[in-house]
Amino acid sequence: MSSASTATLADSIAPAESWQRALRDAVTSVGELLEMVGVDSTDVDWVQPARNDFPLRVPRSYIARMRRGDPCDPLLRQVLPVEAELYDTPGFLPDPLQEVSLSRGGMLEKYAARALLITTGACPLHCRYCFRRHYPYHADALPGSATAEVARRLRGQPAVREIILSGGDPLSLSNARLENLISELSSVDTLKTLRIHSRFPIVLPERIDAGLLEILQRSRLRIVIVTHCNHANEIDEAVIAALTALSECGATLLNQSVLLRGVNADADSLEALGYRLFDAGILPYYLHQLDRVSGTAHFEIEDVEASSLIAALRQRVPGYLVPRLVREIPGELSKTPLAESHL
Ligand SMILES: *Cc1c(COP(=O)(O)O)cnc(C)c1O
Ligand code: SF4
Repeated sequence: MSSASTATLADSIAPAESWQRALRDAVTSVGELLEMVGVDSTDVDWVQPARNDFPLRVPRSYIARMRRGDPCDPLLRQVLPVEAELYDTPGFLPDPLQEVSLSRGGMLEKYAARALLITTGACPLHCRYCFRRHYPYHADALPGSATAEVARRLRGQPAVREIILSGGDPLSLSNARLENLISELSSVDTLKTLRIHSRFPIVLPERIDAGLLEILQRSRLRIVIVTHCNHANEIDEAVIAALTALSECGATLLNQSVLLRGVNADADSLEALGYRLFDAGILPYYLHQLDRVSGTAHFEIEDVEASSLIAALRQRVPGYLVPRLVREIPGELSKTPLAESHL
């Protein structure tokens, strides 16, 4: 309790870092977004979501990577709320993975040897296809004061070798909060690996600041960073610099993408993404079939089409640039690979 309140106090005294200012300054109005990218509002079927229902949120430096005047831009499509979100589609549910019932105090233990912490509900941007867009974070995200309790529970589970920080986006936490969390986790001897699932290195690379690099470098845990990038155009020079800094501090870099209609569901896009990730020192890890969350049906690709895309990609690029095409099935002991045998 006392260490958590110290971190909170330090946070409120410290001047806002540039990434925190960029977050605060993120665009939240559809009109402003469309004006910035030079897209006429009559050329897209946009809607303005209600404030309390997964609002639009996108940092300005991410908007700067969109093509001007293109209503079909693959970055714009990931963040623009459209009318199709309002349709009910059978089979698309608020919590298709049934995570809410599996989570205990912000910790999800679905898989062997790994445990996942829901650290925060905050994200650097709001992805319209997000599988956690209806997740009740406020009820379940990990409060700063619960860190010691998580470490205590992990000490009783020596089979857990790897702890995964997820969210929301764990890098939304301040360096002070992360340092507190990571040092508490490091005190669990049986824990070997710290994995961070984050969209920050791609969306707001200035988050990878000197303070964060130092925390990661100092930790005795092996560090794995799983970025979330869906399109080659998301990776600019600032992103490459941030990822280079992360590899220089010894982190293993992997990427997960979601297969999305209108964004990356063609062999050319996936090929360009693989090569661009490699430019940034990242290997493609997972390509996820969309989780069937309410309001996201318009992004879905059929399994046969997804399988044939991966088969096509495999003929074009080195094997290490082919991600594993997977789907998450509730109750399974791992992500489930999709076969390519339809062909
Ligand atoms: C995906 C996931 C993991 C990690 O799975 P890997 O296959 O090791 O990448 C762990 N816990 C939960 C709840 C997950 O959804
Ligand atoms: S960054 Fe991840 S958790 Fe956050 S909205 Fe996007 S997909 Fe969802």
